[in-house]
Amino acid sequence: MILRRQREPLQLVDVPMPRPKKSEVLIRIEACAVCRTDLHIVDGELEKPKLPLIPGHQIAGVIESSGERVGVPWLGWSDETCHYCTTSRENLCDRALFTGYTIDGGYAEYCVADARYCHPLPDGYAFDEAAPLLCGGLIGFRALRMAGEARRIGFYGFGSSAQMTAQVAAAEGREVYAFTRDGDQSAQEFARKMGAIWAGGSSGAPPEELEAAIIFAPVGSLVVTALRNLAKGGVVVCAGIHMSDIPSFPYELLWEERSIRSVANLTRRDGDDFFAIARKSKIVTQRTNFALERANDALSALRAGEIVGTAVITI
Ligand SMILES: [Zn+2]
Ligand SMILES: [Zn+2]
Repeated sequence: MILRRQREPLQLVDVPMPRPKKSEVLIRIEACAVCRTDLHIVDGELEKPKLPLIPGHQIAGVIESSGERVGVPWLGWSDETCHYCTTSRENLCDRALFTGYTIDGGYAEYCVADARYCHPLPDGYAFDEAAPLLCGGLIGFRALRMAGEARRIGFYGFGSSAQMTAQVAAAEGREVYAFTRDGDQSAQEFARKMGAIWAGGSSGAPPEELEAAIIFAPVGSLVVTALRNLAKGGVVVCAGIHMSDIPSFPYELLWEERSIRSVANLTRRDGDDFFAIARKSKIVTQRTNFALERANDALSALRAGEIVGTAVITI
């Protein structure tokens, strides 16, 4: 499924089989989970994708030559030499390449990927169960680490990433307070089912002051909403790659050492740490599966807020 121009539907076309270059492997794709970032790329909110582009960066498949089950995440390549790479921050690499954005991704039957950036899939996960871990799980995990030792954490927006991160947080003994669109009872019920101890509308206040908040929804005003519910010294972590503008707010809300930060991309180390957790106890996901040729339907459903949990393209 190919994006020829942004703000246009993907097209189902036959393309030549990709050929792996040195350090790359050819992967037969079994499933590719849909991320909100895919929408930002298709809808033109993220600029300068490779075009034409095969989107998708939560790939679960099999290496053709070895039969190994692997996952391909968002970070597809880094130069390993720049200031960021040499200080354990390859996620910020100036020359990084990203799967399904600046390299062809997983809305396809096959892809090639640099083997050094792939992760062995944990046993006990079917391909469509493993695919959502590759970005939603991983970036959520990185965002959770940015929340430090906070015990009471607010999640603003409860979709693909939040459903997995809530389980990791609960396993670490933290309390997750889930905020959804006001009045969205089914999303709130879903959040409670996935491990949130409380769920309510985003304009409401939690029963307890939060020590941290993670903003999963691409809505800048939620940063200010979250700050209002934050205890002294707390942090608001913005987990998405794109967000609407953050409205101005009184300094008083930031005072007393509250902070706001973003999470960008991921490192291979994040992947190793996260998959070690996913191996130890199974992270379950609620999913809606779509056939490859229905990728546009999956994107439309996500755009309309109709997906509870994660949309997955299965091949
Ligand atoms: Zn993603
Ligand atoms: Zn670099």
